[in-house]
Amino acid sequence: MNILVTGGAGYIGSHTAVELLNAGHKVVVVDDLSNAKYEVIDRIKEITGKKLDFYWIDCADKEKLWDVFRNQDIDAVIHFAGFKAVGESVRKPLQYYRNNLDSTLTLLEVMEEFDCKKLVFSSSATVYGPDNPHPYKEEMPAIQSSSPYGWTKVMIERILTDYCTAHPDFCAILLRYFNPIGAHESGLLGDDPNGIPNNLMPYIGRVAAGKLEKLTIFGGDYDTADGTCQRDYLHVVDLALGHLKALEYAAEHQGVEAINLGTGNGISVLELVTAFEKVNDMKLPYEIGPRRDGDLPAFWADAAKAKELLGWEATHTVDDMCRSSWLFARNASI
Ligand code: UDP
Repeated sequence: MNILVTGGAGYIGSHTAVELLNAGHKVVVVDDLSNAKYEVIDRIKEITGKKLDFYWIDCADKEKLWDVFRNQDIDAVIHFAGFKAVGESVRKPLQYYRNNLDSTLTLLEVMEEFDCKKLVFSSSATVYGPDNPHPYKEEMPAIQSSSPYGWTKVMIERILTDYCTAHPDFCAILLRYFNPIGAHESGLLGDDPNGIPNNLMPYIGRVAAGKLEKLTIFGGDYDTADGTCQRDYLHVVDLALGHLKALEYAAEHQGVEAINLGTGNGISVLELVTAFEKVNDMKLPYEIGPRRDGDLPAFWADAAKAKELLGWEATHTVDDMCRSSWLFARNASI
């Protein structure tokens, strides 16, 4: 298939582009490089030894996106493009709603004009909101979030659901990610945010590399086994492979389907720190600080639906995630 990957220079998009190319698909990336670097495109080519077509455009720019569809025979789209920083979204809600909703609406309009009916959307476990019990199951209400970023995911899931009702021959797969970490085994691709990282693993990577002094663990008094928050961390390469499975499923089906991508296991911040220290044979300076506003004590996925419907399950271990994260952070941040 010829797959358009919006946001394909980003962390998850780039790993997905690699797996698509490895599986023999043709890949077209559009990315405005607002939070990614062009060098990532070269690294995808270097890892795979394959070509891909790259367009440096904002996918909310209808004319330019239209040109991409006119020049390329796109069979399906994986839509990653969007702003993704939770804290920033609280400070800049209008930018988040404008960017994330506009790019999706524009993409859908152009897909409709070109009769392209297969879409895999990058959603998030944040749509389960604060009130559902964990493990989260897809049939639970997913209509709440705690940040403008999260609300854009809720809203886009709604838009895609309504679109599928109006166009029963369209297929939209809503992939609800848990906590992707880890990096490509080459050490050439990974999570390398601009500025001081907000997410745990990139922060750990910078501390390990000596670029930040110490990790602050947000809260040690939660009602969990060791007092720190628990999350469902999954390897980004497993996540990327989940997109391939979703694409295969979409090719054969119609309608909307929400699917969790997680391991089904919760591990704590302290357990992750300890695993990182052990596999990489180092000590990480850290302190326990106050809780971070908006953090839930614990959540993880019920991963049964992904296995049943897509034949997908995560295979990488926490050690794999910690080893590859360090390989990237140490050698080749972009
Ligand atoms: N966390 C932490 N220190 C940091 C960054 C994150 O203790 O510098 C914790 C955070 O409180 C949460 C977990 O790590 O329990 C994962 O946070 P992250 O921001 O990576 O993902 P989230 O689950 O918030 O989407």
